[in-house]
Amino acid sequence: MSILNILKEPNKLLRQKSAEIQVIDEEIKNLAKDMLETMYNAPGIGLAAVQVGVLKRLIVVDISKEGEKKNPIFLINPKIVWKSDTLVNNEEGCLSIPGYYGNVDRYESCKIEYLDIEGKLNNINVSGLLSRCIQHEIDHCNGVLFLDHLSQLKREIIQKKIQKNHL
Ligand code: ZN
Repeated sequence: MSILNILKEPNKLLRQKSAEIQVIDEEIKNLAKDMLETMYNAPGIGLAAVQVGVLKRLIVVDISKEGEKKNPIFLINPKIVWKSDTLVNNEEGCLSIPGYYGNVDRYESCKIEYLDIEGKLNNINVSGLLSRCIQHEIDHCNGVLFLDHLSQLKREIIQKKIQKNHL
């Protein structure tokens, strides 16, 4: 296993839409393991393949707390098939936008359909932090960052600061 480089905003790849995975081969399984290790190392609670430069619809999440048993979930081609009417506004960060945070509306709960790492069609009902985390990662698969959910003013403030730090 190895720790991969996490792409940072304003890397243009982060704006690309990822492709559905047709075959779950060794390459995908190894990528999933490396992504998990990379996420734990960061540390973070979610990572999408595009964030390590692979434009495929694969995400890993683990919201277990420090000291708790790890509970990683791999989701391939994840899709929201049901969502609650209730939205929750809460603060979010992103491993591709380190040091910046913003408040984003997410569905309080939703149902996700996905292929597991063995290729079996599965679904999961999620709420709270896990719901937020998976919605954030599915956004990545569509080239969307949490910044895009902020007001134009807030987004521009963060993007200007990032640009400044790049000079
Ligand atoms: Zn992110």
